[in-house]
Amino acid sequence: MKFTFHFRAALALAVLAALAVSAAAQTAKPKKVFVITDLEGVDGIFDFNLQCIPWKSPLYPESRKLLTGEVNAAVAGLMAGGASQVMVYDGHYGGHNLSALTIDPRATLLAGSPVSPTLGLNPTYSALVFIGLHAMAGTRGAILPHSFTWNIQNIWVNGIRVGEIGARVMLAGELGIPAIMLSGDTAACKEFHALVPAADCAPVKTGVSATAGTTLSHPAACALIRKDAQLAMERLDEIKPYSMKGPAEVKVEFATEPTPPAIVQQPGVEQVDGRTWIFRGKTFSDAWLKFRSF
Ligand SMILES: [Zn+2]
Repeated sequence: MKFTFHFRAALALAVLAALAVSAAAQTAKPKKVFVITDLEGVDGIFDFNLQCIPWKSPLYPESRKLLTGEVNAAVAGLMAGGASQVMVYDGHYGGHNLSALTIDPRATLLAGSPVSPTLGLNPTYSALVFIGLHAMAGTRGAILPHSFTWNIQNIWVNGIRVGEIGARVMLAGELGIPAIMLSGDTAACKEFHALVPAADCAPVKTGVSATAGTTLSHPAACALIRKDAQLAMERLDEIKPYSMKGPAEVKVEFATEPTPPAIVQQPGVEQVDGRTWIFRGKTFSDAWLKFRSF
């Protein structure tokens, strides 16, 4: 009798334990985060020629260190906030700014080029984060504002003006991924908040012109980024993906007349005038790929 009682009790405990494990497995869905990085929005960066060209700028070695510090602060904050995996995309100038030697070992680095214009984003990611981003071309009071190249004046997606921030918020939104946090200058934060008001932002510097401004010290910028990344991750459920459904039209106005003979013949591509093109697609990513692949 005693043996049977103990056996039944042990069996009941084993069943309860198995149920608890399966419930934990259901609630503990892996939280993969995709981090887009750039250099122009990092603390202390104000001058493209002096600081941002990998093979040429005299201050570039310092720029890499500043970028690495901010990225690692973000990874630390995201992990503390509940992220289970972090993919870091090295998005500046050919993608050789971060190093496998110094990136936080908990992160995976996506480096080099070319990388698909949709960055390999897919619905397995739970969140998108931006580190070191800059405002779109033509933004007043922004530090080093531009949109992908220095030859693009304006990009509109379904009539909404976007730069590198907005286009990626929309790409993620189409996949149901919320953009939860950004670091960059004050103007980049403003641009991000216009699209995702509930998201967190870490302004590390403020422009007084396109190539000057005030900046936090590097340790202060990293501390702010770590705190905001953790907070954003903890608030993940409160931040909704940007709504991006159905056909899309990407209109691009170049600063000077481009010479893109390859795109003229493509279906869904229309030249409006000497400097302006429209790229249409069944979805935003479809239209975006037509624009970014020429
Ligand atoms: Zn850049």
